[in-house]
Amino acid sequence: MLDLTEEQRLLRASVGRLAREKIAPLAAAMDAAQELPDDIRRHLAEHGLLRLKIPEAYGGVAPADAVTCCLAVEEIARVDGSSSLMLVNHLAGLAPLLRGSTETQKSRFLPAIVQEGHIVGFALTEPEAGSDAASLRTRASKEAEGYRLTGTKRFITNGGVAKVFVLFATLDPALKRQGITAFLVDEDNPGLRIGKKEDKMGMRASPTTEIVLDNAFVPEDERIGPEGEGWGLLIEGLSETRILIGALSVGLADGATEVAARYALERSQFGKTITTFQGVQFMVADMLMGIETARSLVYRAARMQDRGHPSVRRFASMAKCYASDMAMRVTTDAVQMMGGYGYMKDYPVERMMRDAKVLQIFEGTNQIQRIIIARDYLDGL
Ligand SMILES: Cc1cc2nc3c(=O)[nH]c(=O)nc-3n(C[C@H](O)[C@H](O)[C@H](O)COP(=O)(O)OP(=O)(O)OC[C@H]3O[C@@H](n4cnc5c(N)ncnc54)[C@H](O)[C@@H]3O)c2cc1C
Repeated sequence: MLDLTEEQRLLRASVGRLAREKIAPLAAAMDAAQELPDDIRRHLAEHGLLRLKIPEAYGGVAPADAVTCCLAVEEIARVDGSSSLMLVNHLAGLAPLLRGSTETQKSRFLPAIVQEGHIVGFALTEPEAGSDAASLRTRASKEAEGYRLTGTKRFITNGGVAKVFVLFATLDPALKRQGITAFLVDEDNPGLRIGKKEDKMGMRASPTTEIVLDNAFVPEDERIGPEGEGWGLLIEGLSETRILIGALSVGLADGATEVAARYALERSQFGKTITTFQGVQFMVADMLMGIETARSLVYRAARMQDRGHPSVRRFASMAKCYASDMAMRVTTDAVQMMGGYGYMKDYPVERMMRDAKVLQIFEGTNQIQRIIIARDYLDGL
């Protein structure tokens, strides 16, 4: 990309070094152990990545634009999907917090996130409310000085790691979207329990857990935004996160392509290096075209986000959907290009292929993205 600022280039280079030197050597073992050691969180914090979006006034740097966040996410994803997801999900949690909280709340919550390197979780999905998130049932019952929250959140990334969760509950399920309200819930709230940890196909190092709330008390001043306005906060934040999932997809696909291409340059069959076969060259070309097309769309959406463009929601969905479909295809081709060796855990491409699958599922499945894209376009005609 030709039009990055000097700052963006420097950040990309330094995150790239972090990824190659500190994260890549751990990636296979973290996947096998299904654990992200605290070192990863610390590396992200020490490189300033956990405070990328936090304004200077609260201890952050000048809040980074969407392009800069994408660059950081992409560089990490080139070597490890799970570490990159830790950052994406933290930024997803921060989005409604930064949008919806008052100055007093920001002064209370944000400096601790910066100083301690805390991870913020994002808790929306429930057993009966996935794609149809507006049907969530976690109940917030009002009482004298706050709310009592009861319900179960499912598939929550960074469960057990996040210090606080931005959590969506309803004041009354009959109100549907108008009842949804956002709360900041501390992981050590006595009414909150980290439930089942999922055993997953991919992103295995990234913890995914249930969060069980049993009459958890949340004081009034830990409600984010007005009552019933959680849905709006959620929707605005989703565009930001979908663009980041696009960046994660591009990084993962790019990383897998490089591993497979380097392997192919060394591998000989029928007395020739396999990269001399046109069938393999065509595969490399298709992988590169897919990556570059997705990258263009992702960074276009990021620039639209930065400029507050009115069509950003559609472009964020297009970026997420196109890039994650591409990442699934390209990582599968990377395994194919390496033959049986690609299928073995001695090389990272099988992990990258497993990691890619969930990119088509979370932050709204790619079927839901297609609905958003088509409706947004058709409604505007
Ligand atoms: C690893 C992982 C991490 C996650 N992290 C988080 C997190 O941190 N926080 C959080 O809140 N959530 C998280 N999620 C949840 C994720 O966002 C949901 O899984 C996702 O939105 C889909 O919901 P569902 O799994 O209930 O599937 P369902 O909604 O039951 O969908 C099942 C199938 O039906 C299709 N479908 C549903 N409705 C329609 C429709 N109207 N038209 C066409 N097709 C449709 C879907 O596309 C899908 O193919 C995570 C999920 C995973 C797997």
